[in-house]
Amino acid sequence: MRLCRFGEKRLGVVRDELVYDVTDTLAALGSYTYPLPTYDIMISRFDELRPAIEAAFKKAEGTPIKGHTLLSPIANPGKLVAAPVNYIKHLEEAQADKAINFNQQIQQIQKVGLFLKATSSLVGASEGVALRFPDRRNDHELELAAIIGRVADRVAAKNALDYVFGYCIGLDMTVRGPEERSLRKSIDSYSVLGPMIVTADEVGDPSALDMALTVNGELRQKANTRDLVLSLPELIEYASRFYTLHPGDVIFTGTPEGVASVQPGDVIRASITNIGEMVVKVRSA
Ligand code: MN
Repeated sequence: MRLCRFGEKRLGVVRDELVYDVTDTLAALGSYTYPLPTYDIMISRFDELRPAIEAAFKKAEGTPIKGHTLLSPIANPGKLVAAPVNYIKHLEEAQADKAINFNQQIQQIQKVGLFLKATSSLVGASEGVALRFPDRRNDHELELAAIIGRVADRVAAKNALDYVFGYCIGLDMTVRGPEERSLRKSIDSYSVLGPMIVTADEVGDPSALDMALTVNGELRQKANTRDLVLSLPELIEYASRFYTLHPGDVIFTGTPEGVASVQPGDVIRASITNIGEMVVKVRSA
């Protein structure tokens, strides 16, 4: 199933470039009182919601996805986990680039582990990226993003894909400079997910997906997830050794080579096999 969030916080099923509004099914989630859960309630209760979503999809009339404002497909992730330099060619390019390798901070992922991006940085494709420091170098990083579907605590890699709900295209936008990654990559709108969540059953093997990113039609990044240093199952094993992963948590799996800067007015197009394509506009904040 392909799910998007669009317009005024609506939920849609996507089929053949059409969106079918299934927002009414969310009423079954009821209302939560303070303190609110720190995970995504729609993802955590999706199995329960799914029959009603399928029924509503069959009754709804599709409208073209092109006409809709696409929001982040995950409304309330508890964490945005991200893998630094997780492709060998990107490690080499990053180590050779003084603008990226400030203070020789770039090291292998096996040494440095993972980092977190603020959830407040998350936007959907139609919301675009707003550059807050346009005088500094702001780079695109195309990444496969996995969405966790159930609680994962110290999970072995061989079982890890059982915990994945689905996948999105991710952009881990980055301002280069000497500050900590978690700060530079957490600027409002610097985590883009879209255009929709595709459930794991429709994506298949996450270690064999082609991905590409263009800026204003110029090809910048082209890779396949088979070249990840730590595969998605290994990333889930690594992360869940340190903290419990909850439904809706996002894992940005790392970017391949070809990262480069964007300017206000640029248009990014990002695609991943079996997920689709998203178009993201860049502006100044
Ligand atoms: Mn990244």
